Amino acid sequence: MIHLYNGTVIDGTGAEPKRAGVLIEDGVIAAVGQAPPPAGARLIDCAGLAITPGFIDIHSHSDVMVLENDRAKADQGVTTEVVGNCGFSPYPCGADAAAVRRYGHAILAGGDSWGWRSAVEYLDHARRESRLCTVWSLVGHGSLRIATMGARQGAPESAEMDRMEGILEESLEAGACGFSTGLMYAPGSSAPREELVRLCRVTAKHGKVYATHMRSYMHQLLESIEEQLDLARETGCRLQISHLQAVGRANWSRQAQALERLEQARAEGIDVAFDSYPYLAGSTVLTQLLPQWTLDGGISAMLSRLADPTLRPRIAEETIAQTAQQWNDIFVSATGSAEGARWVGKNFTEIAEARGVEPVEAVFELLEEENGDVNMLSFNQCDDNLRKLLQHPLCTVISDGFYVKGRPHPRLYGTFPCLLGEMVRERGWLPLADAVYRITGKPAERFGMRGRGVLRPGAVADVVVFDPAAIRARATYESPQQKPEGIHFVFREGVQIT
Ligand SMILES: [Zn+2]
Repeated sequence: MIHLYNGTVIDGTGAEPKRAGVLIEDGVIAAVGQAPPPAGARLIDCAGLAITPGFIDIHSHSDVMVLENDRAKADQGVTTEVVGNCGFSPYPCGADAAAVRRYGHAILAGGDSWGWRSAVEYLDHARRESRLCTVWSLVGHGSLRIATMGARQGAPESAEMDRMEGILEESLEAGACGFSTGLMYAPGSSAPREELVRLCRVTAKHGKVYATHMRSYMHQLLESIEEQLDLARETGCRLQISHLQAVGRANWSRQAQALERLEQARAEGIDVAFDSYPYLAGSTVLTQLLPQWTLDGGISAMLSRLADPTLRPRIAEETIAQTAQQWNDIFVSATGSAEGARWVGKNFTEIAEARGVEPVEAVFELLEEENGDVNMLSFNQCDDNLRKLLQHPLCTVISDGFYVKGRPHPRLYGTFPCLLGEMVRERGWLPLADAVYRITGKPAERFGMRGRGVLRPGAVADVVVFDPAAIRARATYESPQQKPEGIHFVFREGVQIT
């Protein structure tokens, strides 16, 4: 028995904080209130500290890394992660697991042997190996497609479509918590509407969540939202728009309209919500800048297209046209080779100057030298828009963190303390209980996680104890791998992990 006493309980429902204690017994919350501790309990004085549910990160890319029990998330107070986002999951693998690894390794990291045939295999493995968090997983559309039809783009054959539907059905029955797309990433980006309709229907039938990395967050932000709302309207699926934002100065004014459309859709009865991370910069693979048709057939096909002197200028033109950020806003965060590491932390204006070429050429050259294996970090948003996202009633706060072999985005190490320290305490963007709700009770409700995300008798004892006056992220863009401050204890299912 553990008795956390004399603290301020913020129960995860958004309710006002109250002076109380929490009693943990056998991995479960036995009591919340002011009762004296039972004899034999371990006593922890929480004077001046907040006691909250464990944080729930519903947009994580730690699918493979949770198995290695890295502490990046646990040190922030995260006790539950939803993986399989943006179309990337480490299953299903067809006969060739390497094909799914090639597709996912830049986001999912890990070694060169992962890959599970089914949701059941992956979830069993995660349940056994992951000691620091509880893992929930979405079925990634890109992985599903590759397992069924390889890296080929375009419409599936009818038998392939049936097979995709069947595997999704089986995965949802076996415990996957929903389905995700990454419509800015090949090959998922090439899926015809009918394919998405059929897969969203399966998801809707199971009452599970459809999370989408939409086709565009830039010039086509509003059209992309419309596409997703249409899908939800037609299929009845529960729609979660992933890491909502308006990317690039020219698009910042579109965010207000985007939010308004989502509010209207809610009023119409569509079950839509969104999530956002508390940072101005985003991070992904560098190939994201290219038109995704260049990736038809995978990285090697993309490299031969770049090498084709008749195609290269066209690819350059399309890349420039679709890039909403400025070149000095886009930084290299990781490269596959050790020699490439000299570009990490530099932006494409600097890299282009150093190489004596145009920025778009510098992108191509780097992709060629690194065999496509480059990650980027780009400054996408403005402060005012970020504040409006985080304050919006439909917003859950997420990390979107992933591991790279260079300099990861600081969100991997700092999201939750950044929200509670910088956004709540320093900037006053949200009341503390509201911010806690957005990382506990609200995500639990969204995914139907029973007995998590709240502090009440009978709930699972995922609990964080932190100092609201001191909590802060130390992870920065320059030096991301820093443990946060101000988090005193983290319990997962009653076991202390921090
Ligand atoms: Zn994404």
